[in-house]
Amino acid sequence: MRKILAIIIAKIAIALAKLMGHKGTNFGGEIALRICPDILAWFGSQVKKKIILVTGTNGKTSTNNMIYSMIRQSGHTCVCNKLGANLDSGLISAFINSCTLTGRIDAEYASLEVDEASLAKVMAHLKPDTIVFTNLFRDQLDGYTELDALLDKIRGSLEKSQDTVLLLNSDDPSLASLGEDLAHAKYYYGIETQMDMGSQDVDKDSVLCKLCGEKLDYDHYFYSQLGHYTCTKCHFKRPIPDFKAFIEDKGQKRELTAIGKDDFKVVRDFTTNDSYSIYNTLAAISAGGVLGFTAESVKKGLENYRPQVGRMENFYIGKPITLNLAKNPVGFNETLKIISQDMSSKVVAIGVNDLPQDGRDVSWLWDTNFEILLDIDDTIVNYTVFGRRRYDMALRLKYAGIDENKLTVAETVEDAIDSVVKNLSDTGYVLLNYSLLFETQKILKGRNEDVKADSVPSVS
Ligand SMILES: [Zn+2]
Repeated sequence: MRKILAIIIAKIAIALAKLMGHKGTNFGGEIALRICPDILAWFGSQVKKKIILVTGTNGKTSTNNMIYSMIRQSGHTCVCNKLGANLDSGLISAFINSCTLTGRIDAEYASLEVDEASLAKVMAHLKPDTIVFTNLFRDQLDGYTELDALLDKIRGSLEKSQDTVLLLNSDDPSLASLGEDLAHAKYYYGIETQMDMGSQDVDKDSVLCKLCGEKLDYDHYFYSQLGHYTCTKCHFKRPIPDFKAFIEDKGQKRELTAIGKDDFKVVRDFTTNDSYSIYNTLAAISAGGVLGFTAESVKKGLENYRPQVGRMENFYIGKPITLNLAKNPVGFNETLKIISQDMSSKVVAIGVNDLPQDGRDVSWLWDTNFEILLDIDDTIVNYTVFGRRRYDMALRLKYAGIDENKLTVAETVEDAIDSVVKNLSDTGYVLLNYSLLFETQKILKGRNEDVKADSVPSVS
């Protein structure tokens, strides 16, 4: 009875939030959780085939949505938190959106993105069949434990769930060390081709061996801490991937060929500046392989996948404008690298908030390599900063060495978008962190002149 009450109240709350123009991605779940603390376990027990969790620092939303698309293309029903609300309340909201008023879920699969720091909490209620790990970098400074503590916490909850199959990134030494001492069934994926991902990161986060503390020796380095590595002291080295990716440059395109066991082979094209999503795609393809889907349905799933709100989302307001969510130094560095490959004249707007979802402490701005923009400073006609911490961002750009005459401090999101639109340029980029995303996306969508430019369907 308590469960049904929780569901009805949460459904009403979600409907009201939507009427008022909010997405309500966490709200309904929070209410339900308060009324019925074990509601997640109850929902999970109704999933007929498999529960898949996708976790890691970056790339969770894209990877999870690609896996969801594969499951759908394989002809199965699936619950998914597509918008990326990845705390326990967000997962509960996803179930509430797909259940009847009596709480019945008719789903064969659940594919759920989980915040890496919340994994232990979620696993206390949900028993995943498979966990897909993207990468583990240092994230926001507050609200997140240091990387080692985080790894210990994850290891602790995995030890209580011995039947869970793990899919790990070979190229990430943090994840490889996690796999090293766990007896679970494990699969690895990694990029074999020693390609250039334009890596000039200033912070290689954890390049020390997690087993012995010695420095790792990189034979090849992709970005952040990802690469081909060996410990200089102990036996620790990059595991041989079960799913190997080979990348071939083909003029304007990059072609990824992922090869697993038993003739499992999937080929996928990328535009050249899209190296960031190569890992997400490889993780999703490998997940498809681990889940036993055919290469054909995995490929179809990728073709039908549409990037979610704010992931290199395109608009057209007098010029093409690209919106991208970046939450931490690694995410920002990757986006800045993509922008630095665009030689057209542009406005770059950067929005930083410090609400709890973003992390209260914005000192990570100083760990982010905004200096990348200086290499293409002559193509940037204006830098616009906005959000609650716009002055911190302005200061950071001044220290990076940009010309103050090119800097606009916008009081509102609307003003920031005006600045992107009105400053004469060929293109515009809007980078921001989480709590600014939906308001900004809504305004861009409202002013969008080319419906075809926006490939993202409205999300209900
Ligand atoms: Zn070592």
